[in-house]
Amino acid sequence: MEIEAAREVRTTCPYCGVGCGVLAKVAADGQVSVRGDPDHPANFGRLCSKGSALAETIDLDGRLLHPEIHGRRTGWNEALDLVASTFSQTIAEHGPDAVAFYVSGQLLTEDYYLANKLMKGFVGSANIDTNSRLCMASSVAGHRRAFGSDTVPGSYEDLELADLVVLVGSNLAWCHPVLYQRIAAAREKRPEMKIVLVDPRRTMTSDIAYMHLAIAPDGDVALFTGLLAWLGQHNALDRAYITAHTTGFGQALFAASALDLAAVAAATGLSEDELGRFYGLFAATAKTVTVYSQGVNQSSSGTDKVNAIVNCHLATGRIGKPGTGPFSVTGQPNAMGGREVGGMANMLAAHMEIENAEHRDRVRRFWSAPDIAQKPGLKAVEMFQGVADGRIKALWIMATNPVDSMPDADAVEAAIKACPFVVVSDVLASTDTVRHAHVRLPATAWGEKDGTVTNSERRISRQRSFLAAPGEARPDWWIIAEVARRMGFAEAFAHETPAQIFGEHAALSGFENDGGRDFDIGAYAGVDAVSYASLEPFQWPAPERAVQAEPPPEPVASTERHPIRFFASGHFYTADRKARFIAIRPITETRTTPDFPLVLNTGRIRDHWHTMTRTGKSPRLSQHIAEPFVEIHPADAQHHGIGDADIVRVSSPRGDVLVRALITPRQRQGGVFAPMHWTDQFAAKGRLDALTAPLVDPVSGQPALKHVAAHIERF
Ligand code: SF4
Repeated sequence: MEIEAAREVRTTCPYCGVGCGVLAKVAADGQVSVRGDPDHPANFGRLCSKGSALAETIDLDGRLLHPEIHGRRTGWNEALDLVASTFSQTIAEHGPDAVAFYVSGQLLTEDYYLANKLMKGFVGSANIDTNSRLCMASSVAGHRRAFGSDTVPGSYEDLELADLVVLVGSNLAWCHPVLYQRIAAAREKRPEMKIVLVDPRRTMTSDIAYMHLAIAPDGDVALFTGLLAWLGQHNALDRAYITAHTTGFGQALFAASALDLAAVAAATGLSEDELGRFYGLFAATAKTVTVYSQGVNQSSSGTDKVNAIVNCHLATGRIGKPGTGPFSVTGQPNAMGGREVGGMANMLAAHMEIENAEHRDRVRRFWSAPDIAQKPGLKAVEMFQGVADGRIKALWIMATNPVDSMPDADAVEAAIKACPFVVVSDVLASTDTVRHAHVRLPATAWGEKDGTVTNSERRISRQRSFLAAPGEARPDWWIIAEVARRMGFAEAFAHETPAQIFGEHAALSGFENDGGRDFDIGAYAGVDAVSYASLEPFQWPAPERAVQAEPPPEPVASTERHPIRFFASGHFYTADRKARFIAIRPITETRTTPDFPLVLNTGRIRDHWHTMTRTGKSPRLSQHIAEPFVEIHPADAQHHGIGDADIVRVSSPRGDVLVRALITPRQRQGGVFAPMHWTDQFAAKGRLDALTAPLVDPVSGQPALKHVAAHIERF
């Protein structure tokens, strides 16, 4: 492990998918300070409030420092032996699908790679899924349907080069602040650049918006399907591009044409005038990027939303060119790295497909795997249902807190409590999930571990350690490898460093890859320790190594930097190399009832992260918003007899929370918004996901966390 002292270490922020570079310094007295890395191409020195408060969150309060079995401190050998023998015995008695791993976008790529290799190649099941299922699974599914691969085509620079940035279901100002700052700075330089915000709420992101479309919840499919029809009616299509590089346009346009403007207005809650102005602006602006995030993904129609957006970019040929493209921004620091190693139940490794026999055979041969998984495993919601009904008898949860973050959280907690064998590897001793573990394994935290992460623009960066591992904490990859060896797979899990794991992962990405797969970092196959230690941030694909740091540290958008863009040549990853239009018919769903008449939208605030296990340690971050709240429109507040700052009960058919009412016209009438961060640890009865339902998108399996029928009353 590389321990550095009294000099700055180049590492990466562990929060959102912007993936900012951080310089961390340990002074002689042990005090840690952080600042933005001016040479990192994601942030050029910027950090948001969360990133700049990182040094306040690294104390050892509440840390899990020793392995425990049933709450009793033990040594690593006993704990690892018990985990390995119980998993092996369960597999022997009940088959490989009786065990499962639930992992995390907080894991580093090396951790993720080994967990996926163990489950899919050696256990012989694909029952490994991740909290990234809650984050961007719909984008993955939409990309694969349209492009034949899970490819984010553009780079952050495209957001700066665009003349129109459409932000859909994304409060970028709070959830991806440095990317927001980059767009705001670009707009300052080029005032003609326009931002359109599509969001039921007038969030802080609207401060730079030329136009805010306060869309009805889940109205996005109708909005973009209507746009496709409008582009067709107004002769605003790139016919040459459609003919040369796509298939399925006729069916998609035919399906879209079923919607006239009045129908789109009814489905979106927007006026025909608003729609006409937005559609006209989109049609007239060649350099358009459409950015989407959880408002698109966390929906029962999330995959259709993604494809409705992608359809419009394909129809106008706006993909693979500077300043254009559909652009999914991921919520977590390494959701993208997890996708690269195939750390989801319906993926294989290195962007190969589990349903594809050739791909399975290729991975089996590369790993010398005895028992490659033959079919997709259980996705997150299904996995916990499998735990509840007894199909899963041994569960290992790594670096995540599903008792607070999964939909229908009370049912998830009951399932975990009833599971015969639960292992949790985590940095903390007492999250709501860790409490239920039979075996607790202490993992190293940010600042103590080494590895890589991939951000939303496919840029791989190093996380580097600058603190010694406390107590007996060990890196996640080490814990997984030790369990695998004890299960009888010593040769395949002989890794001793994260560099060796990264080198193997890179080799697999290039293995028998003749350009038929998008993810390729084959140039880094077998990377040595010295090169890994000094690895500069780089974007994939990277079949050849960057010979110098790239791109140059230049914080001004410039067309001369040539960031990597996919699809510039019109080559996609389908069998015929053409992109697919998806024919989509919007479905209008009403989930509200007379008893639960409001639509609850859940999300993030600026200064907290997930279930606050890290940001909750910083008093500075808690100053921004100190307690859980619900935003409600003045008319709804009046109707329900609620005054500003009242304590209110928000309930759904599944549970209730007590929060402070914040009356604001920024909230759309008929809906309320509440942040997801607070748990019962930080606020009495504040666990929001006890209200949400296990309703998922039928294609991606991503839960619909942004559309929950709710009731509100004064407490
Ligand atoms: Fe960290 Fe995201 Fe903030 Fe950058 S924008 S400092 S990655 S939380």
